[in-house]
Amino acid sequence: MDKQFIEEMRETLETQRQELMGILLSTNAAFRQMVEESSKTGDTIDEAADVIDRTMLETLNAKDAGRLQLIDSALTRIRQGKYGVCLKCGKEIPIARIRAIPHAVLCVDCKSAEERRNR
Ligand SMILES: [Zn+2]
Repeated sequence: MDKQFIEEMRETLETQRQELMGILLSTNAAFRQMVEESSKTGDTIDEAADVIDRTMLETLNAKDAGRLQLIDSALTRIRQGKYGVCLKCGKEIPIARIRAIPHAVLCVDCKSAEERRNR
């Protein structure tokens, strides 16, 4: 996949992440407390977000937290050089899909299979 395109998506994801963090910080006391706790130990907000685990996310607004998790995993995929490749089947995710949903880590087939399973 095109490096410049990935870089563009990384910036989009980082921006979305910052916005989401801002929303979570202003609307969720538990999240704010967690970030404050970790800032005492000298971690930045960015690092604090990295240590958010499932338990923590359950206390957050499920929709926002879920999105934050998706964005984080997409950013992780970029760091690992695996961005744009389906997490499940390893096929390349079409650029049009990524452009529409920058945090997509599954191809359309795997995504709809997963949605069917969750239903
Ligand atoms: Zn797939």
